Amino acid sequence: MAGRTRRVLNSKLKTQSPRPKAQSPRPYTGCVLGLYIHVPFCSAICNYCNFNRGLFDAALKDRYVAALLAELERGTDGSPADTIYFGGGTPSLLNPAEVAAIVERCARSWALTADAEITLEANPETVTSERLAGFRAAGVNRLSFGVQSFRDEELGRLSRLHSASRAVEAFRMARAAGFGNISLDLMMWLPQQTVAQWLESVDALVALAPEHASLYLLEIYPNAPLRDAMARGRWSVAPDEEAAEMYLSGLDRMDSAGYVQYEISNVARPGRQSRHNLKYWTGGEWLGFGCGAHSTRAGVRWRNPSSTEEYISAVAGGRSAATDRRALSADERLEEALFMGLRLNAGVDVAAVNTRYGVDPWARYGSELQPFVDQGVLHYDGRVLRLTRAGMLVAHEVMAVFIR
Ligand code: SF4
Repeated sequence: MAGRTRRVLNSKLKTQSPRPKAQSPRPYTGCVLGLYIHVPFCSAICNYCNFNRGLFDAALKDRYVAALLAELERGTDGSPADTIYFGGGTPSLLNPAEVAAIVERCARSWALTADAEITLEANPETVTSERLAGFRAAGVNRLSFGVQSFRDEELGRLSRLHSASRAVEAFRMARAAGFGNISLDLMMWLPQQTVAQWLESVDALVALAPEHASLYLLEIYPNAPLRDAMARGRWSVAPDEEAAEMYLSGLDRMDSAGYVQYEISNVARPGRQSRHNLKYWTGGEWLGFGCGAHSTRAGVRWRNPSSTEEYISAVAGGRSAATDRRALSADERLEEALFMGLRLNAGVDVAAVNTRYGVDPWARYGSELQPFVDQGVLHYDGRVLRLTRAGMLVAHEVMAVFIR
């Protein structure tokens, strides 16, 4: 697979988001909001990580949570919201009381629906029965564990802090604490990993029976410390064709276990798709809070500064942290609808896109897309455009058609 394919398959959403300008309520657009809360702290920095994060520091965390609460207070306009997503970093490093305060502030600032999906990303080594019970009492009703592998030697090569048995223990403790909606992340194409070893992890995940799973390919960034570790250890990754086999065979196992793929890298039990992440993929609206967080609302996008200190300083100084606020052009919105829509197994409803963006995608791009239909990587029935599963492996080539 080419590099861009990897990026499409790898693109775990970490849409870190900010809030609307203080004291300037925006009109309710009809979209029910998602609220993203970024928590940029980790116990250690994994050797492959390219997210916006830093080492945990208790004093800095206290100041950061105070800034988050202030930003949430000022960002309110009372619009409806039906998701809160704590992403990171490692949100499970927050204390349950801090999570409770943030959830309560969200509920005070927006019309949070009674059935709101409230997700907390968690690393297995950070949780205990007591902490999990505290998160549940705080209103969290969905956990997303960063497991990555159920093989200790693979976890070691990734410099993860947990072991496979700790991940299983964390999952069981979460169930005992009352979590009935749990997602597990796994990564494939790890250094030295074979297809059979990858499938061992998939089988271990299936044995736990989570409601949702995300299966990503590891992407090793140019300056990742993992590159040096690979050179020192003489580790390599499997050839591209085996990476494709990992992807396809992993999804086949999930199919057989009753999961339904709904996005390039995500599967779920029926009705257990990530409501929050679907907002990113279906042209929804969300507000992000915390450093590096992005927001999109009413065709306008903005972001908060990536730096934790810069973010705290802006909020503590009574200023809006939002920057780079700009209206998306009609072409950008159309392209995004097509890019995101093709990530989904449901595909792109051509008539709906035409109604919303005033462009018939097949009329505009059909002649360039037809060869992909002929190759069997893209399906078009006159109504819906969607990638076949094999087509998801070459998604970048299809999506390149939309870039003009
Ligand atoms: S725990 Fe996640 S966010 Fe933190 S360093 Fe590791 S991969 Fe990055």
